[in-house]
Amino acid sequence: MEVFTGMQKHGYEQVVFCQNADVGLKAIIAIHDTTLGPALGGLRMWPYPTEDDAIFDVLRLARGMTYKAAAAGLNLGGGKSVIIGDSRRDKSEALFRAFGRFVQALAGRYITAEDVGTSVEDMDWIHMETDYVTGVSAAYGSSGDPSPATAFGVWQGMKAVAKEALGTDNLSGLTVALQGVGHVGYYLARHLKDEGAKLVVCDINAEAAARVKTEYGAEVVDTDAIYAVDCDIFAPCALGAIVNPKTLPRLRCKVIAGAANNQLLSESDGDALTERGILYAPDFVINAGGLICVADELEGYNRDRAYKKVAGIYGNIQRVIDIAKRDRIPTYRAAERLAEERLALIGQQKRFYLPAEMLVR
Ligand code: NAD
Repeated sequence: MEVFTGMQKHGYEQVVFCQNADVGLKAIIAIHDTTLGPALGGLRMWPYPTEDDAIFDVLRLARGMTYKAAAAGLNLGGGKSVIIGDSRRDKSEALFRAFGRFVQALAGRYITAEDVGTSVEDMDWIHMETDYVTGVSAAYGSSGDPSPATAFGVWQGMKAVAKEALGTDNLSGLTVALQGVGHVGYYLARHLKDEGAKLVVCDINAEAAARVKTEYGAEVVDTDAIYAVDCDIFAPCALGAIVNPKTLPRLRCKVIAGAANNQLLSESDGDALTERGILYAPDFVINAGGLICVADELEGYNRDRAYKKVAGIYGNIQRVIDIAKRDRIPTYRAAERLAEERLALIGQQKRFYLPAEMLVR
């Protein structure tokens, strides 16, 4: 892979390769853009088959974080890191502390967090070497499991799209088809039930679906049947790429609003949704609740303040819809434009984040 070619194409600022043979560390930290502030993004531990796979993944994910933070109105940039390894076999205190020293050496340009394959315990080990880490134990001021905040944000964003597509942001009496009732889906189901929505759910984990049936009176359908449910809102909260040429003709909803990452298989599926008159709440805007809470940790976590900011997802979705109408573009494009316009506006004055202690006064 031509790393510089890849970096230049999408404007990456910095990619750091970190190795420590004594502890078996091979890690990559990618900082995409620090126009708005330090680059924040999780540390993924994954047994990538090749180094190119790891580079591709960390670059892709870091750029995604720039857009997510910018669209959420946060003063954070986009970054991500990966450790090449098997999270079930290769973890140790020494490994994560070695990684923590590399994070510390970046002096605050990158702030790490949990992601696939890493845990609170790993973050605590990193914290022994650096303060530039979130998602540590509650004793160190963590915001804890991000799922309730993500669900709360999805619920708020869902109301904003409903207002546009259905003429009301009161979800009472509406039918919501929920794909996946795991961490986020379960909490989302509770908000919807409390508001009086009718729930149709599915999950490959029969126990998870049964729990939502018992607790919230949801109707349970087969995992394949969820796409064809006659509903007002389809809420994907399980997998990515579920809006694709196979599922599109089967959808009978007016709105798609859910937590899952990368819901569109490709951009053409986003265009097809618009043609079919289905209003799509872009995933990285509506599912930013967890990130907003983690960002609040940097100021000393305050739950009330954090949830007030998460409620702002309602307005963020409205902004996306306004841009879509203004520029006559699908909402998935409008979400990117929302982020890019903010980056351009703020970035006119400010490029390349330097921690305060490194500024020459
Ligand atoms: P989770 O693993 O707790 O829940 C996912 C649920 O989906 C599980 O119960 C699983 O059994 C079910 N599932 C998997 N495949 C399915 C299928 N084919 N059909 C139906 N159900 C299926 O994950 P989560 O934390 O609730 O996250 C859900 C989605 O939201 C993921 O895409 C995740 O990346 C995204 N997301 C989560 C957060 C968060 O705070 N947890 C934040 C942003 C985005």
